[in-house]
Amino acid sequence: MTKTDAKESLALEPGLYVTATPIGNLGDITYRAVKTLKTADLILCEDTRQTAKLCAAYGVETRRAPYHDHNAARVRPGIIKKLQDGVAICLVSDAGTPLISDPGFKLVRDARDAGIAVFPIPGPAAAVAALSAAGAPSDQFFFAGFLPAKSGARDKALSAIAAINATLIFYETGPRLAASLAAMVAALGDRRAVIARELTKLHEEFLTEKMSALIARYETAPPKGEIVIIVFPPDKATATAAELDDFLKQALLDMSVKKAAAQAVADLGVARNEAYARALYLKDKNDDTPQ
Ligand code: SAM
Repeated sequence: MTKTDAKESLALEPGLYVTATPIGNLGDITYRAVKTLKTADLILCEDTRQTAKLCAAYGVETRRAPYHDHNAARVRPGIIKKLQDGVAICLVSDAGTPLISDPGFKLVRDARDAGIAVFPIPGPAAAVAALSAAGAPSDQFFFAGFLPAKSGARDKALSAIAAINATLIFYETGPRLAASLAAMVAALGDRRAVIARELTKLHEEFLTEKMSALIARYETAPPKGEIVIIVFPPDKATATAAELDDFLKQALLDMSVKKAAAQAVADLGVARNEAYARALYLKDKNDDTPQ
């Protein structure tokens, strides 16, 4: 093989290469990802210093430039122009798959809108790594990413997904874990959950318990490191309609509609919307009953 042949066999087709990188363990990178990083014309990085470590480990000398939330809107048109001119660009984030709770969506969207080829170079993503080893049902799952930081928006986001009959996956940080779990108990009922921590790293840990038990464990001692929360789907054998009504009638004797519904969610594992609507109905019906 001549030098030119060798170079041509390595050359990448022009386009955007959305390239997954390890989520902790440096060994978790594919041969194809390394080859793509080595042969691209440019690597767009969420943090160039972080990607420099990966490049050093694999002998990647390709030029790097930042692409993150703070400069994306400004630099995106220039990147699209470069891609239209026929260069091959890798997009990476600090860890895992770009666009998964990481920058890149608008770049991929704009590239596709401009008719530019976009290639996935698949690899790790913490959500899938956690799900693959958690022991929760994996036939259907909903990835919810990070919950909003403010409690009102967080509760609203949880209400919107409370009725989903599938495993739920969240990204979370240690300091917010107990408060998020408490909000989940209120919105989803006290389901079982798995805390998947520090995946692929030295202190990797999976802990499965009812969310109430996890709250008790973490509220005074927030865990360190990176966390995925996997929430089991609602129990199929939740209360029957009659059991829910009996529970609510009793609770409404000395509780408001809101509190009675919240209690039913926590004790019976029913969906919040269902408990609230039923409690409201029973309360109204009772108020209309001639005394
Ligand atoms: N793009 C990444 C992916 O593909 O998973 C996610 C990036 S997001 C900014 C970072 C969050 O992902 C962390 O706060 C944590 O919730 C989760 N995460 C990333 N690496 C992890 C790991 N090794 N163990 C557990 N969770 C992890």
